[in-house]
Amino acid sequence: RAKSAGQGQFAHYTTAIATETRDRTRLLQDLRMAFSHGLLFPHYQPQFDLKSGKVVGFEALLRWRTEEGQFIPPDRFIPVAEQSGLIVAMGAQVLNNALAALKTIHQAGFPGLRMAVNVSVMQMRQPNFVAMVQSALEASGVAPQELELEVTESVAALGMEVMVERLQTLRSTGIAIAIDDFGTGFSSLSYLDQLPADRVKIDRAFVNALDSGTGGRIADMIVPLGHKIGLKVLAEGVETEAQANILLELGCDEVQGYLYGRPMPLDALLDWLAKQPS
Ligand code: C2E
Ligand code: MG
Ligand code: MG
Ligand code: MG
Repeated sequence: RAKSAGQGQFAHYTTAIATETRDRTRLLQDLRMAFSHGLLFPHYQPQFDLKSGKVVGFEALLRWRTEEGQFIPPDRFIPVAEQSGLIVAMGAQVLNNALAALKTIHQAGFPGLRMAVNVSVMQMRQPNFVAMVQSALEASGVAPQELELEVTESVAALGMEVMVERLQTLRSTGIAIAIDDFGTGFSSLSYLDQLPADRVKIDRAFVNALDSGTGGRIADMIVPLGHKIGLKVLAEGVETEAQANILLELGCDEVQGYLYGRPMPLDALLDWLAKQPS
């Protein structure tokens, strides 16, 4: 009995793996197709100075719109894009789109605002990564100071020395570096200290905890920690006034979240910007 039950479980397990593999293969095929048909493009979410309430920049967030007009969230397809290597071409396109969008925003009468773009380890692993970023910047006519690259602690998977060197090179040209999702990975503290960066982003799980009765002590710790090593601190996923007020008390510098503005396509963003109090 025990044996047959075991075999049953095994069969079930392999079926699950087969299904999973088939789903991934299918998803990757669809993703490649969508990418080549131009169905992948970023939306842009505004970021604000917390004290003044003024817009300081945007984060480019990739969207996949199916032929039927449905949006597939990045958490669903970015991992597949990373595993297949497709993220390299996709990421380069996001960077080009985001820089072109920023140029349009500047020319529409909103100069000086910055653009943050997420980059994967897989992209940074490319020997030509630094050159790719620099030539995208040059082609766009955007100043290096107006571009920020968001990296996560997972970049350390590449080997800390290579990582630090690449980020340092980019930073020496004026590009800003943000450490994204801080506190959600491993060995956070030593990476925070070693990665050359300008900004640390508090993950929205910790921001959510500020007024949900589950503590919020992590955000309490990240703000002074970031400041101590000379970083600006941006809280992401701010959804309530209560969270914003606590963050202000904590001395957090910048915010991003549904309370202030959702990720939007460029045309909607231009309309939205025109309606902002100046
Ligand atoms: P992330 O970089 O940490 O981006 C923040 C995520 O929080 C975004 O999810 C954003 O839409 C969401 N968000 C912002 N404000 C709020 C809020 O107030 N409440 C809630 N519930 N969510 C909020 P999104 O757009 O689904 O992206 C998920 C993740 O996918 C990103 O996390 C990033 O890791 C990855 N991603 C997105 N675009 C790209 C890209 O172009 N390249 C790479 N490599 N990764 C990307
Ligand atoms: Mg990000
Ligand atoms: Mg994040
Ligand atoms: Mg994330």
